[in-house]
Amino acid sequence: MSKRDYYEVLGASKDASQQDLKKAYRRLAMKYHPDRNPDDEEALAKFKEAKEAYEVLSDEQKRAAYDQFGHAGVNGQGGAGAGAGGFGGGGFGDIFGDIFGDIFGGGGGRRGPARGADLRYTLELTLEQAVRGCEEKIRVPTWAVCNTCDGSGAKSGEQPVTCSTCGGAGQVRMQQGFFTVQQACPTCHGEGRVIKNPCTSCGGQGRVQETKTLSVKIPAGVDTGDRIRLAGEGEAGMHGAPAGDLYVQVAVREHDIFKRDGTNLYCEVPISFVDATLGGELDVPTLSGKVKLKVPAETQTGKLFRLRGKGVTSVRGGGPGDLLCKVVVETPVKLSTEQKDLLRQFQESLEKGGERHNPRKTSWFEGVKRFFDSK
Ligand SMILES: [Zn+2]
Ligand SMILES: [Zn+2]
Repeated sequence: MSKRDYYEVLGASKDASQQDLKKAYRRLAMKYHPDRNPDDEEALAKFKEAKEAYEVLSDEQKRAAYDQFGHAGVNGQGGAGAGAGGFGGGGFGDIFGDIFGDIFGGGGGRRGPARGADLRYTLELTLEQAVRGCEEKIRVPTWAVCNTCDGSGAKSGEQPVTCSTCGGAGQVRMQQGFFTVQQACPTCHGEGRVIKNPCTSCGGQGRVQETKTLSVKIPAGVDTGDRIRLAGEGEAGMHGAPAGDLYVQVAVREHDIFKRDGTNLYCEVPISFVDATLGGELDVPTLSGKVKLKVPAETQTGKLFRLRGKGVTSVRGGGPGDLLCKVVVETPVKLSTEQKDLLRQFQESLEKGGERHNPRKTSWFEGVKRFFDSK
């Protein structure tokens, strides 16, 4: 039997809000409710179809799986199963409780224990590690499944038993005027099962606190702010419920030489004023070793040189960025008397050449003069 699209069933668009989905479902549930359509097989089928569609689409996680993979994404992992489960015993009385429960503040009880919490871990990396990728061992304080009871929470050899208050449903129904409202069972807190004799290692929680050591593979090209999700490596759930996920958040430490901006790298390269004047070859560092950079004669301080492809390749793909080297002319320090004399002589010879040796200085002074003359 081929199944209809869940959105089509509810007559809702793919980007419908939860509120819209609920409205659509409510309308169909009212229309096809078995109480209103006694002995109408077609109405019953429509009713079930709508209920199943709403059960999947109202759960954001299941909805995402359905959006991505269609029915295959939710079958076999409890999607359709949950729909069938809600129909046991032939009692339809609770359906209005499902819909109206939260309107009246009853709150939908949850079937089974809650999934473990997600964890966040900030991993500091050097620039080299982030660019090349690496495998890092991290130690995460977390909740892990109790080995003694295998997560059940019950004393060894025993099993949790079905809650007698709710008969395992995890929910109890209460009459509130005209409506039946569902609430989480107060005895088992919605889990449907209770533990008579709790496991002594975990006190009945089914999980214990411990520090887990995990190996995290960091793909090449990550940057600060990137997140790596390790499914199922978060906190273990209570009483054997599924674990949450672990999110490893990358933080790249500052580098002594390079600054990164996306796929480009920047660095400053000091150069003597003689090299800057006469031109020369510089050794420039890159992440893959030194390269030679030809600096032409009469290079001014602050000039940027671009080394194509010597930047970073992003984890998101695309080609490598560039390395931008900013040449900074360094003023010589700690000169001897002799060296200073040489410079003075040099200065005199510059002045003899007139303004052509320092065109920038000359035009700057002229600008300043114009500025004062205009006042
Ligand atoms: Zn235990
Ligand atoms: Zn119960």
